[in-house]
Amino acid sequence: MAEASGTANIGVVGMAVMGSNLARNLASREGNTVAVYNRSPERTRKLVSEHPEAGFVASESVDDFVASLAKPRTAIIMVQAGAGTDAVISELAERFEPGDIIVDGGNANFHDTIRREKDVSASGIHFVGTGISGGEEGALKGPSIMPGGTAEAYKTLGPILASIAAVAEGEPCVTHIGTDGAGHFVKMVHNGIEYADMQLIAEAYDLLRTITKREPAELAEVFTAWNSGDLESYLIEITAEILKQVDAETGKPFVDIVLDQAGAKGTGSWTVQNALDLGVPVGGIAEAVFARSLSSHPEQREAVQATISSRPDVVEVDVDTFADDIRAALYASKVVAYAQGFDEIVAGAAQYGWNIDKGAVAKIWRAGCIIRAQFLNRIVEAYEKNPDITTLLEDPYFASAVADGEAAWRRVVSTAALSGVPVPGFGAALSYYDALSVKRLPAALVQGQRDFFGAHTYKRIEKEGTFHTLWSGDRTEIESAPSTH
Ligand code: NAP
Repeated sequence: MAEASGTANIGVVGMAVMGSNLARNLASREGNTVAVYNRSPERTRKLVSEHPEAGFVASESVDDFVASLAKPRTAIIMVQAGAGTDAVISELAERFEPGDIIVDGGNANFHDTIRREKDVSASGIHFVGTGISGGEEGALKGPSIMPGGTAEAYKTLGPILASIAAVAEGEPCVTHIGTDGAGHFVKMVHNGIEYADMQLIAEAYDLLRTITKREPAELAEVFTAWNSGDLESYLIEITAEILKQVDAETGKPFVDIVLDQAGAKGTGSWTVQNALDLGVPVGGIAEAVFARSLSSHPEQREAVQATISSRPDVVEVDVDTFADDIRAALYASKVVAYAQGFDEIVAGAAQYGWNIDKGAVAKIWRAGCIIRAQFLNRIVEAYEKNPDITTLLEDPYFASAVADGEAAWRRVVSTAALSGVPVPGFGAALSYYDALSVKRLPAALVQGQRDFFGAHTYKRIEKEGTFHTLWSGDRTEIESAPSTH
């Protein structure tokens, strides 16, 4: 492979599925000359020979790859997250000059991105942690792109990323999210919301299947119908396709031949772990992550099943009315999951010093990524009306959408409980909504318990100050310094 000095405006390192698709996407856009490099040269050779139309500038050494980039050099790393990414960053950083840009497009943990940005920027090189969503197809045809890093790096990088991003209503699905790890943080929350959305759809399917006793092919029609209303989304669309699928080997519905143990790659757990650290209740997202974990403990499932002699009879329902109720419950629960995700973005931005435009985030999720949906336009509008709302549930559109579906939501959750159908997502979302809605929470009793056993103190409703009751003494109240533990 011939080295061409300084001709490529952009380079990609890592020629596995994501990197090669992203490189092909870049090469297909006017004005881009794309340098490519992979640790094992076989992958690069294969890509170059299969796609001569791309005009790739290919290299088999890091030195040649770096030499093939025009200044300021810009390279996107698409290699295995973790140690692989660190290895490539240090190889590039050794050779790059101040003003050059290293982009990590992998699924990095944003804490790693913050660390890497600090290390790399110390030598004047820009480091841009960038979330890329849309899987293999998105990388090739147009993903949703969430770059962090400096505003200065975004001046060079922004137009290149805009050239390959998905387009929603005429706008490219890319925006500068914020500094250092902001892009990977928002990508992490995107994935957490994705977990919740998928779990809620799966629960809707399970309820319809178990309680209305309809076959997957019939349910595919229900999901297809839902896909033309306010639930219209990529995930609803592919659900209908999956339910239609028949296994060629057995003739059974595809959904009946797949082992019911769901996998996970970690970004969902990160969303929940960070929400715990930030003190943001994301129960809808957490239940979705836990539902996958639970499904993957067959030993516990079998052990409990062995103790049970009978399961509840399913509640008799009117099929069409119940399907309508589930649609409403799904929508309301989905609103809650997105509200929780955006709460985490707000809290993360405050904690890490990012100025994140929530409406712009919702905009770039409208196409290219897995949670792409019409619904995101409503979130854009909510933040356009008032960027400082304390929760999406406060927005008049979402408040009335949830209120309109509330009775149906309660019918669905109670019917599920009576029929023995697990609905951790629907249930958690409804409880969250109720907890925000009631005037008084039992947290007052919890404060009493904390004060009883640990002298953690409490505040009173009607007067300022911090108090402690002498529980093991005469039970009188004293004014006290606030507890530090
Ligand atoms: P991958 O299977 O995660 O990683 C394989 C690539 O990493 C190969 O090019 C491999 O090079 C390279 N690599 C691993 N260790 C390396 C090291 N120490 N030094 C240099 N190169 C090393 O590839 P992928 O599925 O295409 O994903 C790439 C990145 O995109 C990952 O961070 C992934 O999480 C992220 N991502 C993936 C998806 C998806 O849908 N797959 C979606 C969004 C983001 P060799 O060929 O030499 O082994």
